[in-house]
Amino acid sequence: MTEKIVVNSDGKLRVPANPIIPFIIGDGIGPDIWNAAVRVFNEAIKKAYNGQRQVEWKEILAGQKAFDTKGEWLPQETIDAMSDYVVSIKGPLTTPVGGGIRSLNVTIRQTLDLFVCQRPLSWIQGVPSPVKHPEDVDMVIFRENTEDIYAGIEFEADSKEVNDLKAILSQKFNVDYPFKEHTALGIKPVSKDGSVRLIRAAIEYAIRHKQPSVSLVHKGNIMKYTEGAFKQWGYELAVTEYADKVYTWDQWEDIKKQHGEEKANASMKEAIAAGKVIIKDVIADNFLQQILLNPKDYAVIATLNLNGDYISDALAAIVGGIGIAPGANINYRTGRAVFEATHGTAPRFANTDTMNPSSVILSGVMMFDYIGWNEVSSIIKNALQKTIAENKVTIDFYNQMRGATLLKTSEFGTAIIDNM
Ligand code: NAD
Repeated sequence: MTEKIVVNSDGKLRVPANPIIPFIIGDGIGPDIWNAAVRVFNEAIKKAYNGQRQVEWKEILAGQKAFDTKGEWLPQETIDAMSDYVVSIKGPLTTPVGGGIRSLNVTIRQTLDLFVCQRPLSWIQGVPSPVKHPEDVDMVIFRENTEDIYAGIEFEADSKEVNDLKAILSQKFNVDYPFKEHTALGIKPVSKDGSVRLIRAAIEYAIRHKQPSVSLVHKGNIMKYTEGAFKQWGYELAVTEYADKVYTWDQWEDIKKQHGEEKANASMKEAIAAGKVIIKDVIADNFLQQILLNPKDYAVIATLNLNGDYISDALAAIVGGIGIAPGANINYRTGRAVFEATHGTAPRFANTDTMNPSSVILSGVMMFDYIGWNEVSSIIKNALQKTIAENKVTIDFYNQMRGATLLKTSEFGTAIIDNM
């Protein structure tokens, strides 16, 4: 009997043996990569549980397919299903041009309040990379998913709204800026609650997975009350809620001020030896060079929405590109989660059966870990690693490798299954 995944009163998921998991097939290359991925998922489940467990995949509509059949880009019943069935997975969706919808993905994240965009970035042996030591990258990004400039509070130059806002700024707040004519304005909301719940999820992940550090990545030197506050709220949260499990750079500064640098260093060393998670911070532009120069210094990253967007793509490029970078959007309070490939619809390659399905496959790996089916995720990860180690790859990797075997999307799926 198939059943829904439910969230218990303690916030933990109850996953039946035969859960129903909704999927959105996605636009552009979505069908190609999903069809390869779902075969991999089903085969891994069969291998792991020998028929004792099974997923019933339930298609729900969004994007072009929804528009063509229902006249709506994102039907309410799709949002309801994602909410009701708790865990779902999706392919990439076209961003409709015009029609008042900014982005289907952003709408899904905001409507379901999926406040964490979680992206693990690590290298798989054999994947072509532009850097010498991609194996040094092993990070998990926690990107805030609902606030920052993604809130969409933006006003067009010369609009009535922008003129009203400019008048308030200059008359009430005495704010002046050099370009008075034809100026557009955007507002960047960053709240304490929004920041704290994201940073809490990152710290709890680090504790649970015995990670050495959480880095708060921000641009607080320039945006003091938004990004600077994000950092400060993060440090405050760390010492108020996790005092016995973490050690912060703020604490190091305090000890240094009172007792000198030697004592501060000794206290940090002691904390590391005791297995405490180090909470530190780094300015976003510096972080972008650090991931190239000293990636080993970073493990769990907590950052704001726009920084997270840039950082994810930069790190993805180091470990093999967006064709292999998975992602999840999670509300750790309600348990709701939507797993998704991080790349877009690559419309030029739609129905060519050429693109890399690894991003959606590894998003599935994250999903199986999330529902506690770790045996399935291990089987998939091992088989994917083995396939790449055999130099069997899709076009994106093939173009950067010598002597590799070029496979179509569907053939790559089959090669993974053959390696299980
Ligand atoms: P894109 O990610 O679709 O494609 C950029 C390039 O990346 C492609 O031309 C291709 O060379 C490469 N690429 C992407 N996916 C790949 C894969 N699986 N394997 C190998 N190579 C791959 O970005 P875009 O062209 O800027 O956006 C196209 C559409 O996708 C837009 O409508 C955009 O809004 C949308 N989009 C959706 C999502 C999402 O659904 N999560 C994310 C980003 C963009």
